[in-house]
Amino acid sequence: MLKGKTALVTGSTSGIGLGIAQALAAQGANIVLNGFGDVAGPRASIEALGAKVVYHGADMSRVAEIEAMMAFAAAEFGQVDILVNNAGIQHVAKIEDFPVERWDAIIAINLSSAFHATRLALPAMKTANWGRIINLASVHGLVGSAEKSAYVAAKHGLVGLTKVTALETATSGVTCNAICPGWVLTPLVQKQVDAKAAALGVSNEEAKKLLLGEKEPSMQFTTPEELGALAVFFCSPAAINIRGVAWNMDGGWVAQ
Ligand code: NAD
Repeated sequence: MLKGKTALVTGSTSGIGLGIAQALAAQGANIVLNGFGDVAGPRASIEALGAKVVYHGADMSRVAEIEAMMAFAAAEFGQVDILVNNAGIQHVAKIEDFPVERWDAIIAINLSSAFHATRLALPAMKTANWGRIINLASVHGLVGSAEKSAYVAAKHGLVGLTKVTALETATSGVTCNAICPGWVLTPLVQKQVDAKAAALGVSNEEAKKLLLGEKEPSMQFTTPEELGALAVFFCSPAAINIRGVAWNMDGGWVAQ
């Protein structure tokens, strides 16, 4: 379905971003990988699906590096047709204890980077009259949780940016939507499981159940594969009139 299209997925060396990159590659898209840590493993897993893959290691907190990555993607593949703004970090602390540099980093990586990548991708998408922008927000773009001030602020901001992007492209073949997962067992969440296990002196399995039990009625983690399937749907012709939604995939978290 996506043969000949190019998808740039920020933060795609791990977790949800990697799952989405694999799902788009399985539909025939070329992939621009981004993120830190091991690149060879993720790259090989996508190439195994028959996709062309290039990698750019832009730090998404740095505007000049985002600009360099977008120029690199255009030079490699002509243009970015599908932009998935996924890179994100978390820090958990009460507001009065929240390190100022963590606040700044979360706003830069989880929110401002999506603005920069979007402003740079939109002109070519509008010219082509086809594009998909998918913002990885969170249930925390819809509701709050204590001790996650920067993350909740950034994700609510990202849902707002999604709506404005959708309105500014509403009469075109470009759409913009947000995906709002509940708990997904990636390294980002494993850190929170580990912290709970240590704080309560319980096993890892017990800590996972406690985490799910607090928020997610299904008592199931959403998987990167399920999120990848939703991203593929947003890229399909059937989704052309889905514009500016914040679509939660959260085991009932926000239904409560
Ligand atoms: P993860 O830690 O597995 O992956 C994060 C990715 O972002 C990695 O590839 C990492 O290298 C990259 N990254 C981090 N900082 C970066 C930077 N400065 N520049 C470039 N890349 C950077 O996390 P994940 O759980 O897969 O999270 C992906 C997105 O999904 C995030 O935006 C997160 O907020 C969101 N999300 C996650 C969950 C969850 O439960 N895991 C739930 C809702 C939303």
